[in-house]
Amino acid sequence: MLSIEEILSELETKSGKSKKDLQKLIKKKQDELSGLVSEEGAAHLVARDLGIDLLKSNEKFYSIKDIKPEMKRVNLKGKIVSITPLRTFAKKDGSEGSVRNIIISDGTGEAKIPLWDKQTDIADQVSIGEVLELKNVASKQSAFGNIDIVLYRTSSIKKIEEDIPVQVKKTTEIKIKDATEGYFQIKAMIVDVFNTPPVFYTCPKCKSKVDKDISVCQNDGKIEPETNMIITAVIDDGTGTMRAVFFRDAAKEVSDLDVKTLKDITHEEAIKLIKENILGKEFLFKGKIQKNKIFENLELVVNQIEDIDVLEQSEKIIEELSKDG
Ligand SMILES: [Zn+2]
Repeated sequence: MLSIEEILSELETKSGKSKKDLQKLIKKKQDELSGLVSEEGAAHLVARDLGIDLLKSNEKFYSIKDIKPEMKRVNLKGKIVSITPLRTFAKKDGSEGSVRNIIISDGTGEAKIPLWDKQTDIADQVSIGEVLELKNVASKQSAFGNIDIVLYRTSSIKKIEEDIPVQVKKTTEIKIKDATEGYFQIKAMIVDVFNTPPVFYTCPKCKSKVDKDISVCQNDGKIEPETNMIITAVIDDGTGTMRAVFFRDAAKEVSDLDVKTLKDITHEEAIKLIKENILGKEFLFKGKIQKNKIFENLELVVNQIEDIDVLEQSEKIIEELSKDG
């Protein structure tokens, strides 16, 4: 259902009447019906009297840049620019949960669609470069100031033929000296680890950062904070060095450590342990190269890691196979 504010703004645009006049009409309608209908209900009746089809307003599509956190019943379209691999995790009740993210862009911004458990099937049916139409979804703020899309039972998500002129860089490999903003993969070695705290705490409801000692969210009050992992490292591919940021699953995967291990030891111990586990290791890092807001230099936000050894082995196998053929 539309809220009364949404109905009013829709009626204002379509009828040319002032908001005040419309409110009067709605009040009059309510009075006529002896107060048996809500303000929204009366507004729908007024719309009908004025010959305005309110339900059509549901077809409004938002530009991603105009989507604010905590919006409900939003429609949007976007081209898939990234799909993360399936990750599993232990839920509080002991069962196994899974998650995959689809990142879409419409040229005005990017939004992440986290898919949980059964929803992850959706990611198998789509590929990078395809355009998705999302209807009746909600939005919320992610921990890093971006927009996350929330799917409801009544939400719909489908592939459409329409194209959106967004350039999708299909994670082509790049050398650090040639790095530029966008989605890329870099084959490099981890040569250093920044001294930043590897565990941070967020509100389970709105995902904003919280201080673990206070456990109070500015939006939601007293909460039980979620623990998250972050590793910031320096990678080197022989042509240059770059800052690489690993959040959550990426941090877990690259270090082979989990948040449980890190949160109960001292900061120094945690950094030491991380260094022991990752320094000198070589991987194929896939992710988004972006300008760091504070340092103004380029950094790679890693969303996928591939083991070089496994990769080289499979390349070797392919080479051998092609020799045989
Ligand atoms: Zn909160």
